[in-house]
This record gives sequence, structure tokens and C-alpha cells, in this order.
Amino acid sequence: MAFSLPDLPYAHDALEPVIDAKTMEIHHGKHHNAYVTNLNKAIEGTDLDNKSIEEILGGTSISGPVRNNGGGHFNHSLFWPSMTSPGSGGAPSGDLAAAIDSDLGGLDKLKEEFGKAAATRFGSGWAWVCVLDGKLNICSTANQDNPLMKAAIGDAAGCGGTPILGLDVWEHAYYLNYQNRRPDYIAAFWDVVNWGVVGERYAAAKG
Ligand code: MN
Repeated sequence: MAFSLPDLPYAHDALEPVIDAKTMEIHHGKHHNAYVTNLNKAIEGTDLDNKSIEEILGGTSISGPVRNNGGGHFNHSLFWPSMTSPGSGGAPSGDLAAAIDSDLGGLDKLKEEFGKAAATRFGSGWAWVCVLDGKLNICSTANQDNPLMKAAIGDAAGCGGTPILGLDVWEHAYYLNYQNRRPDYIAAFWDVVNWGVVGERYAAAKG
């Protein structure tokens, strides 16, 4: 059962000026597509080819190509629907808003800690908000790793549980618009976060 590239839930230029159309075309159509193609190659004919992406990534002994491309496919599939046109993503509400206050000290604190995790990730990787042991947690991972891979990445990253929001800080995600100014990209990200989607993921993770 091969994986496939999900459609973007908006037009390539929908996130401008925060993320430009050309970056979205290349990022989704080339980068994400390559992760899907290479994941399918890596699992073809193995006992992973009938498993869900979550089951695959939770394994203890995933190979390099499965880890890199499976992570790449999962992470980008989570990333695209996390965003919407600038100013239309609302604000955290309900149980999510309450948890942001009680677990993280409020939305400003979330942004500060998440921004720090994203800015200090050396080289390529992701910053995350995840639900770990029933509480919101902020962390970052290298390359295409993510919190679902706790068995593979170990405890050092302080990451685990279910990711509900992630930010891609690979240069391919921002270089056309921001060049070396990663902090500006991170700050602008908040203008396109779709908090309704993040809230649905929080509810699902809490079960
Ligand atoms: Mn990417």
C-alpha cells in the first residue's frame, strides 16, 4: 500500500507574504514529493508496506531511508494543514487555550519557547508542540525526526507523544524569502497558524 502526496488545502500563494508561492511550489511539489517517492521505495517488499506512517515511525529499528523519508512525509503532511491565509487562523480556544495557559504559561510563553526551539535548532530540523503524557510540551528534533520517533531518537531531545504543531526550519522552507533570517520566518509563522486545526489535533491526542 503505497503512500501518496496529499494535496495542499489552499493555493500556492495563499500564505503570502509570510511564505511565498514559489517556495510552496518547490517545497510541496518537489521536496515533499521526493520524501513520498523514496519512502515507498524504502518499504516496498518489506514488512512495513502494510503499516500506517505512525506505526512505521514508532518502530525501534527503522532504517536511515525509512526514518528520513517517513519522517519527511509525516512532518510535511502535518505542516501544510497547520497553516492558512494570514490573519484567518483565529486564536487558540476551548480546551487547547486552557491547556496552553495551564501547561505552558500562556500563548506568549508558548511562542517564546517554541521560537527558541526553532531558532536554536542547529542545521536542519523542526520545532514542535506535542502532547506528552497528557500535557503540552515544546521541543525540537533534527533532520526529519519527530516526536513519534521516541523509540529511535531517545530521551535526549525531550520529545515524545503526539505532535499537534510543527515548524519546518530547513533552509528549503524559507530561504527564497528570508535567506539567513530564520528568526524573521519564525516570527511571521504565527500569522498563518490555523489554530482550529491545532485544537482538533489536541482534542484527538487527549482522546
Ligand atoms: Mn521541508
